[in-house]
Amino acid sequence: MQKRQNSIFDCKKKRGARCRQITVRKWSFLIITGGMSLFSITFVSEIITTTMILQKDKDPMGLAIADYAKNGSAERLRVFSPQFEEDEIPVETLFREYEAMPDIEQKALQTAHGHVLDVGARAGCHALALQDMGMEVTAIDISPLSVETMQRRGVKNAVLCDLFDISGHNPGKTYDTVIMLMNGIGIVGKIEKLHSFFAYMKQILAPGGQLLVDSSDIRYVFENEDGSLDINLNTAYYGEMEYQIQYKHTKGEPFPWLYIDFPLLSNIAENNGFIADKILEGDHYDYLARITLRTNS
Ligand code: SAH
Repeated sequence: MQKRQNSIFDCKKKRGARCRQITVRKWSFLIITGGMSLFSITFVSEIITTTMILQKDKDPMGLAIADYAKNGSAERLRVFSPQFEEDEIPVETLFREYEAMPDIEQKALQTAHGHVLDVGARAGCHALALQDMGMEVTAIDISPLSVETMQRRGVKNAVLCDLFDISGHNPGKTYDTVIMLMNGIGIVGKIEKLHSFFAYMKQILAPGGQLLVDSSDIRYVFENEDGSLDINLNTAYYGEMEYQIQYKHTKGEPFPWLYIDFPLLSNIAENNGFIADKILEGDHYDYLARITLRTNS
């Protein structure tokens, strides 16, 4: 089956890769912060979370979208991963308009209500579409070049901020809808971080608020021709990936990226006092989830 691009990162298994080689390298989150200009420590329900802002010279995607916004074209945006063959992100997809968005994203925008927080907004495609629909949006990203690009493109409230620092930026503010799209939940990076993620969501979601996230079950990547799966259950969850991106001569730091299947996401959401509903399934193992707080939690 052909896979369409439903995440900024496509998953093409390294030829001949088997589960032994698909072990996710263990590396400390703090290594990333070594390359960041600023980072702070936030206490979320007694869980320590590292927050960060990218440096411009460590932000290849930001450079690519700044080029594209300025010149209408960009050079190759290259993606490296120990798990996958080298790949490219088509930069123009980061500038897609409503009509060009997959059904899952259109559905998310239709489902959004109230004040929307667009997390990891990048070039601002969803924020702009929501503004066109008359919605109030705050678009955040850790990439200064992305925030500048969003501001130039007309995003009214584009803020340079880490998701885990949004309440520091605007204390006490809550949001009716939090969107994380194009496999947006990926920024959480690791399964184990989902607990602090949900704890943080409890703080920033308004009463009756919702979290709209999309992701994919990437087990198809590990499927053999006979239908068996090359997944080693003794290693890290198969959706935990590591990526590194390069644009021209600028190479970013490696970073973790999470793909999560719906049953697992739903289970973890439930354990953290939320309810997850799958509100749309895509055509390639991808889905849109609406996550709300369980009323008695
Ligand atoms: N939502 C965008 C895709 C963005 S890619 C789209 O659909 O086109 C993921 C984005 O998340 C990147 O721009 C990255 O800089 C940003 N990001 C990563 N970690 C983040 C964090 N902790 N807080 C806010 N933004 C983050």
